[in-house]
Amino acid sequence: MDIARRKTRVVSIGQKKIGGDNPVLVQSMCNTDTKDVSATVKQIHELQKHGCEMVRVAVLNASAAKKLGEIKRRIQIPLIADIHFDYQLALEAIEQGVDKIRINPGNIGSEEKVRKVVDAAKRRRIPIRIGVNSGSIEKRILAKHRDEVTPAAMAESALSHVKILEDLQFRDIVISLKAADVNRTIAAYQLMAKKVDYPLHLGVTEAGTKWLGTIKSAIGIGSLLNQGIGDTIRVSLTDSPIEEVKVAWEILKDLGLRKRGRMLISCPTCGRTQIDLIPLAKKVEEATAHIEKPITIAVMGCVVNGPGEAKEADIGITGGKGVGMIFKKGKVERVVREDTLLDELMKEIDKL
Ligand code: SF4
Repeated sequence: MDIARRKTRVVSIGQKKIGGDNPVLVQSMCNTDTKDVSATVKQIHELQKHGCEMVRVAVLNASAAKKLGEIKRRIQIPLIADIHFDYQLALEAIEQGVDKIRINPGNIGSEEKVRKVVDAAKRRRIPIRIGVNSGSIEKRILAKHRDEVTPAAMAESALSHVKILEDLQFRDIVISLKAADVNRTIAAYQLMAKKVDYPLHLGVTEAGTKWLGTIKSAIGIGSLLNQGIGDTIRVSLTDSPIEEVKVAWEILKDLGLRKRGRMLISCPTCGRTQIDLIPLAKKVEEATAHIEKPITIAVMGCVVNGPGEAKEADIGITGGKGVGMIFKKGKVERVVREDTLLDELMKEIDKL
């Protein structure tokens, strides 16, 4: 079943476009020292290999900002500069040719400084992402919300930054409203989706370690995407950013929003299981991780229900009595020795 996506303005980030009918894009953030160009470029290449479609780097100081041009020249995906409040770093990043900056205009300081950043972004035709995090709401806004970081307070904070940009006739805006709490994140984005038509960048911040953060992100980001909300996503994990990209893609694939690589179906095992399925499923997961073609592979425990339950899979394996079977679209193709199942499956996948 297709998801009806919310229609938003189209915003260009380098050669990519988000919003409108454009696909939801996968983003991640480097955890290298941005000044270390080689390490940062190496990580970006690795991220791109795994499906990262735009990448953000932290710009902590002038020496990091001055390296952005060199990084940009050596990568193929759009580069986003993450700046907290220093307008001079924003100006330098724009000068260096980044494709987008993340900065909250309300944090920049004087109107003059904001205008300089906005003028530079206009000249270079790059968007600005307003990134509100639950921990950084302005005191004056919190006071209006009984000092509680409510979804309404988060949305109000984002809208106050939006207004600053709109007053300067700047509309290449992307918005994010991240909280570590899943329900609050979802509610904040739902609220914002009703108020503006700017593209939304989704994420649950500080989601946690790989296992816990994957669950949190899948619920938070997945719920919003299922409601048609969201134009780019970033899964935040206390782990390698490569893992973030892998999780992001699985979320998009499971929702039917994007296709990339294999989808893996495997049964939960039960008393009918006829082979040692759990280690086999893990081996299949690893052995097929590199596949870029969008195919569905099933790993099932018994011949009684396996092929039938996985009949939508392009190819699958199932256990029989002391043997294994290869099936395609629910029909058993051939019987093989159980200890050769994985090898035989990989041969069949190669043929596909
Ligand atoms: Fe059990 Fe067979 Fe279903 Fe797997 S496919 S859960 S082994 S009935």
